[in-house]
Order: sequence, then structure tokens, then C-alpha cells
Amino acid sequence: MNNIEIDKKYVANTYARFPVSIVSGKGSYLYDEKGKEYIDMGSGIGVTAFGISDDEWNQAVINQLGKVQHTSNLYYTQPCATLAMMICERTGMRKVFFGNSGAEANECAIKVARKYGADKKGKDYNVIVTLKNSFHGRTLTTLAATGQDKFHELFQPLTSGFVHATANDLDSVKNAVKENKVCAIMIECVQGEGGVIALDKEFVKGIKEICDKEDILLIVDEVQTGNGRTGYLYSFMAFDVEPDVFTTAKGLGGGLPLGCCVMNEKTQNVLGFGDHGSTFGGNPISCAGAISVMERLDGEFLTNVKRKSEYVFKELSNAKGVESVSGMGLMVGIKTVRPAKEIIAECIEKGVLCLSAKDKVRLLPALNIPMSVLENAIKIIKDACAKI
Ligand SMILES: *Cc1c(COP(=O)(O)O)cnc(C)c1O
Repeated sequence: MNNIEIDKKYVANTYARFPVSIVSGKGSYLYDEKGKEYIDMGSGIGVTAFGISDDEWNQAVINQLGKVQHTSNLYYTQPCATLAMMICERTGMRKVFFGNSGAEANECAIKVARKYGADKKGKDYNVIVTLKNSFHGRTLTTLAATGQDKFHELFQPLTSGFVHATANDLDSVKNAVKENKVCAIMIECVQGEGGVIALDKEFVKGIKEICDKEDILLIVDEVQTGNGRTGYLYSFMAFDVEPDVFTTAKGLGGGLPLGCCVMNEKTQNVLGFGDHGSTFGGNPISCAGAISVMERLDGEFLTNVKRKSEYVFKELSNAKGVESVSGMGLMVGIKTVRPAKEIIAECIEKGVLCLSAKDKVRLLPALNIPMSVLENAIKIIKDACAKI
């Protein structure tokens, strides 16, 4: 049996994988078993922020591997402390809890919100308002937070205490807050899995006002949008709001599992000793990789992300076979005339790996993708779209 056959036989059937078996890569190129080269326009769903086998990231990880790979959270390690300091200093937040994934980061934020509600207003103030079409993870609680029925049907009962309001409809959020005992509102500023759709700035600001007025927490899920993806260090910075809690994962570790829940002045001490924990959380190797990512996400780098984004939006808007382009930074959704599936299959054929989100083709290239490589990929994607 070849690798694909072995995988099909022994790995759980939860993924509709593309018929590509990746062996290696460098930067924004990936290579399959036959040595075929692909331009990587998905970066492992926004994870390999600096591409595959990036020299600086590799060196940071290898250095840490030679020291200690895991200690548990019973002891202090330098990478964990340094990364927490970097995240706080660059966002104005106060404390970081480390886990290993986006869903875990959101679980932590939800625990913070419930405890905050209980401390401030009483135990029954435990409802969290999220948005329809959102995505917050695959655990039973983050599925409950996710505002898409198709994820809920098979796994009842989910964690209770979530209501879903309509995106860009402030009255819908206000009603949800009025009708329930709410402790937090949780949003993605750009809905990723929901189709790469940025919320209206006024809507996000309106939510922040409701949160301040009612003393409920604003949680921003930056799992996909964070760490430079939108051309801002975190997307809330583009929306001019300061969250009480934000979560991130995906690109943070640059390819190793790492997620975190970040708390501000108001929420920093909500969780105390014994209230939460994770065996792997804050793993020194993951954190060493993340430090090398964070160090490079400076103003100049982010300006370059914005420039590349402008190029992509300009090329694809009004291109033949493209109905619309959405998103922000290097988080791009393309509504195509032909089904997205066909475009993606044709791009694979031509050596470009794209993602999908709902009915769109989604692009999440490495943030440091060279301009010439980006141009080649966009040309192939445009050609595929144009065949109608
Ligand atoms: C991917 C994603 C998650 C879940 O992250 P995992 O690491 O898969 O648990 C949560 N929220 C958003 C916005 C995401 O894009």
C-alpha cells in the first residue's frame, strides 16, 4: 500500500483530504511524493506564517530542542515567559494562558467569561452571545459557541449557555443581551471558516459599547485573524476596539501546536490557582518557534503584508469568472462563477494549493511569500477562474 492507501485504511475518516501526499517543502513551496512542486496558498490553514522549514524559525526550534523539550507547568521556562511578555507588551494586554490549539484557547476564554459573570453579577450570568456563521472550534463547548447549525446536529447535547446573534445587526445583539443573562460577547472580526467575511467596523464598535455599558466581556477570537494575517498584528487593531479577552493559535506557533488566551487589566485575575491548566500548554519548543514569529511581525513586515494584499485584491476583483473577493490582509475569500471545488482541483493540477471556506476559494498564503511566487500563484488561480 502507498501512503495514501495506508492513511485511508488507518486514519479516522474525518477529513476529505486532497489526493496529495506532502513530503517536504521550503518557504512557499511544497513537494509531493513524486517530487511535484506546489505553491502553498494555504499555509496549513494559516499556520506556517513564515512558510515551510523557514531558516530562522528552524534555528529557534532546534536551539530549544537541544535544551529541554517539555517541563510541565510545574516549573518556569524562558520561552514561555518571554513569549507572554512579547504578546502583552505589543497589545496592551496583561496576562496570557497557553494551551495547544484554537479550540482550547477559546475554552479558556469561555471559562474566564463565566467566572467573570459569576463574580460580578451572579452565577446565572453565564450566557455568551456569538454570531451566526461564526466558527470557534470543535470541542463540544466551542461547537456550541459556533453559530452554524450544521456542526451541531449530530452531537447533542452541546454545552448550554450560547445564543447566536446576526452579524452586522446591532439590534440583534442588543436583543440577545436584553433577553439573556449575558457575561460575554464573542466575535471573529473577520469570519474565516464562515466564508472570509469582515464584520462592519461600526458593528464591532457598537458591540464594544454594549459590553462597556453592561459590564460584559468582549472576547475576540483571533485564532485565524491573529499574528499578522490581516496586515495588523491582531485584527481588533484594525477595528479600533480593545477586547477584554482575545484568543489566538494557528499562525502563532509558526507550525507547532500553540494557542493562547490573552486577558486585559479587567480580566487578568479572573482565573486563579487551580482554575485552569494544560499539560502541554506553553511548551518551550512551541514557544521558541512563536518568539521567532512574533519578533519579525514588525511595522515594516505588516506594511508588506498589506501591499501583497492590495495586489491580490486588485488582481482578483473584476477578474473573469470571479464574482467577488472578500477578507482582509492575506486572508482572502474568492466567490467564483464555477464551483470552488472545481477551481481548487484545477489549481492542484497546475501546482497551486488553495483552501475553501463555505462556497468560496480561500487563500491564506505564508505572510512572507515572495512577490514573484505570489504573482505566479495568482495567475494560475485567475486562469482557472476564467474558464467558464
Ligand atoms: C481554526 C479556528 C478555531 C479552532 O482552532 P483549532 O486549533 O482547530 O482548535 C477557532 N476559531 C477560529 C476563528 C478558527 O479559525
